[in-house]
Amino acid sequence: RAKAEGSGVWRFFETEMDESLQKRRALELDLRDAMTNGQFELVYQPIYNLKLEKICRFEALLRWRHPQLGLVSPEKFIPVAEEIGLIIRLGEWVIDQACQQAASWPDDIKVSVNVSSVQFRSPRLVEAFSSALMHSRLPAGRLEIEITESVLLTNSTETMATLHKLRSLGLRIAIDDFGTGYSSLSYLQSFPFDKLKIDQSFVHDLTSTEGSKLIVRAIVSLGKSLGMQITAEGVENIAQFDQAAAEGCDEVQGFFLSKPVSAPQVSSVIRKFERRRGTSRSSRKLGK
Ligand code: C2E
Ligand code: MG
Ligand code: MG
Ligand code: MG
Repeated sequence: RAKAEGSGVWRFFETEMDESLQKRRALELDLRDAMTNGQFELVYQPIYNLKLEKICRFEALLRWRHPQLGLVSPEKFIPVAEEIGLIIRLGEWVIDQACQQAASWPDDIKVSVNVSSVQFRSPRLVEAFSSALMHSRLPAGRLEIEITESVLLTNSTETMATLHKLRSLGLRIAIDDFGTGYSSLSYLQSFPFDKLKIDQSFVHDLTSTEGSKLIVRAIVSLGKSLGMQITAEGVENIAQFDQAAAEGCDEVQGFFLSKPVSAPQVSSVIRKFERRRGTSRSSRKLGK
């Protein structure tokens, strides 16, 4: 530091650093308050089952309504919540809230909840799920959890024990953003996962890049041969929808069908898709 004292460039850099550090500190403080002030909410994005031709599930996605900044993306605040340890309580709130809200939906509609790798390692995780199921009276068969490959980086006995305990509660376990993690595929042998969600990046290029198409094809084939269901995430247009179907995906999710909606809108989204199903089976009618 002393050495660089004379450098204007360095001082400029320090001010920049201070600013971003200050912003970061402020974000941390706000995040702690947000819990107590009820600034979090869940939105729900429908997932469409191609064989049943209906909405089968909604993924719960966390939103933070910051009084000054407006809606803050989970990509921004979840890493911070993980670092300051708040993710455990926040994640428990998500689980409780998602189970409570899903319990009021029709019996054939499930809910998925994302679990961060930090929360996954919490000794309270299994208890959080079992108590949320008990209090909401949501049948465990209607609950699915999404974990990313980062959870499986440590292919440890603890990880496996947690997966087995969760499974014994009766819920399903999906691997999210599949194909982007740095983990080896060996974990697929260690635990029978229920579902693979193909990362959006492959789906995005599915109809424009031969390589992405081949990767999607390989993931579908790998997943199917291991007895897993396959979801294509990030389907934004009809071409991607039709290609995902042609490649043998079981489910599709993305803006083409619907953006995430607020909890009170869930039932009208379900009705809207029921109506479209009544009028036409063509994918053209779905994305309206
Ligand atoms: P994710 O679990 O992979 O969720 C899918 C993300 O893709 C969501 O972003 C969703 O809004 C977005 N998305 C859906 N369809 C499309 C599409 O057609 N095109 C594009 N470009 N994007 C689409 P969101 O809600 O901003 O969430 C981002 C990530 O934050 C999630 O990725 C998940 O990793 C994390 N996250 C969200 N909610 C929670 C939560 O409650 N707990 C934890 N631990 N993580 C969460
Ligand atoms: Mg997810
Ligand atoms: Mg994903
Ligand atoms: Mg993601």
